Amino acid sequence: MRYFLYVRKSTDTEDKQVLSIEAQLAELRAIAKRDGLDVVEEFIEKRSAKTPGRPVFEEMMRRVEKGEAQGIVCWKIDRLSRNPVDSGRISWLLQEATIGKIITHERIYLPHDNVLLMSVEFGMANQYIRDLSVNVTRGLRQKARMGIYPSSAPLGYLNDPRTKTIVVDRKKAPTIRKAFEMYAKGKSRYEDIARFLFEKGIATGATRGWTKGGGKPLKREQIAFLLSNPFYIGRFRYAGEMYEGKHTPLVSRELFDRVQKVLRERSNKNRPPENNPQAYCGLLSCASCGCAITAEEKMKYQKNGNTHRYVYYRCTKKRGVCDGAYLREEKLDAELSDLLSRFHLPRHWAQEMERMAAQDAQEAEQSATISISALRAEIIALNGKIARLTDLFVEQDIERGEYLTRKRVLQDERRQLEEQVLKVEQNAAHWLEPLREWIKDASMLDEIAKSEDLSLKKSSLQKIFGSNLTLHAREARGTPKPHWFSLVGGKENPPKNSAVPILVDLRGVEPRPRPCHGRVLPLNYRPEQGPISTETSYQIFRARKPSLLELRERAGLKDSAGVQGSLSNHIFRLSAVRTKPLYNTRTLREIRML
Ligand SMILES: [Zn+2]
Repeated sequence: MRYFLYVRKSTDTEDKQVLSIEAQLAELRAIAKRDGLDVVEEFIEKRSAKTPGRPVFEEMMRRVEKGEAQGIVCWKIDRLSRNPVDSGRISWLLQEATIGKIITHERIYLPHDNVLLMSVEFGMANQYIRDLSVNVTRGLRQKARMGIYPSSAPLGYLNDPRTKTIVVDRKKAPTIRKAFEMYAKGKSRYEDIARFLFEKGIATGATRGWTKGGGKPLKREQIAFLLSNPFYIGRFRYAGEMYEGKHTPLVSRELFDRVQKVLRERSNKNRPPENNPQAYCGLLSCASCGCAITAEEKMKYQKNGNTHRYVYYRCTKKRGVCDGAYLREEKLDAELSDLLSRFHLPRHWAQEMERMAAQDAQEAEQSATISISALRAEIIALNGKIARLTDLFVEQDIERGEYLTRKRVLQDERRQLEEQVLKVEQNAAHWLEPLREWIKDASMLDEIAKSEDLSLKKSSLQKIFGSNLTLHAREARGTPKPHWFSLVGGKENPPKNSAVPILVDLRGVEPRPRPCHGRVLPLNYRPEQGPISTETSYQIFRARKPSLLELRERAGLKDSAGVQGSLSNHIFRLSAVRTKPLYNTRTLREIRML
């Protein structure tokens, strides 16, 4: 007997138990091999069986009727049909013995089988589909009434398929909340918010309904939608009605209201120009009084009818009189671009750092492996204990109650160890990602500095300086974060010998006059703190790397037999070849808090 193999994907989404096409194929081929079936062709259908008229199915049935094969292999009988027309046809061919055998993973259907049973099975498949479409609408509305948003979760939330509810996406939720906070301040534009989200890994295509393109910053409309979506304060609109949701709100009512206020002001066509923030708003503060730097749009009308638009940046003067900076956008942009390019990481440095990181990652993996094998050994020991305990119980040396109690204790212990193994596995290289990101950021700066994308420049500057950028009379200054600082230092003042000098000074040891505390970096900065090498900025980053001891502590291992070293030891060991240690204990503590 020759067989056709028929596979259909379930496009009826609710059909959860159904296997994917590949899985079905694999199962069916296994069945065919096991039973030694002569499969002459495999048919793969991608359409639902709800309605008659599946092209592949038709083709197969035509060839069955021609007698090319006498048997069909499929996963379940409902793969073949979910509508009365096709069901009838199959039943008839089977009764007539044109089809000699239908083999599924559950059972085999033969011509002399009870016809009634088979029609019942087909009938159920058919009814199932009919019920679905009615039930779906009813179910969704019911769900909404129960406070569960019956659709795909907005950004910052996830659909939990297990409980059929919407839960907070712990990874993205803080970012969304931050976006609301940023926007509420009234200094960010949609583009800034989109850029911010993009840098945190939220891009188009990340949510359903925005599938075009993808991998780009969200569009203005998407940001507007996000910022005005009441879902984030626990309510949602469904089928024209507002419902109180059961999900956890991401932002407070108060913050949401402030955001709505800003949105309203912005959408007001008669808004004063100040309300339309320019690209660099919210980036700088005034050096003389500490107020924010804002922008102002000015139009110049010439006699010949031409108009020119200028944007000026100036102090908001919220704290009274201030004669702080006042400069054109072009000037400021040139200034900031220049500043950015100073933090550029040259290609060959980036390569070297990547290499070092890869090596470190390997080491971290090795140390994690040591911890894990220690944990595994303990798990094996526990398994032995449990087995012995069971022996005692079987021999009736201990009471059942005692046996169960002791066994539970041992099992708990084992579960904890297993969780620790998981934790160590996850933690081993967690520092690597931010490092790689930084290398990528830093090696793009040259390009960014030359570009026209002001919001990209703004976000890069914020990465380097945080909120530490101030505008002096005509120049921007700031305190870069340590790893950025050492990068610029290393570039502009290469070490004279191989000695690696101190790279971070001691913050907060003695009071320094503002604004020159710590590592203020004016535009014409030439580091006097001493030479700083490329390796140092890398080292600052790698200091985040968990040491063996930390890994073991995290894993809850008290004995450190066979494994030595702490973070400081580790770094001292690394720097042993050099003339002096990279860090003293104090800086170490600070670096670890980075
Ligand atoms: Zn000022």
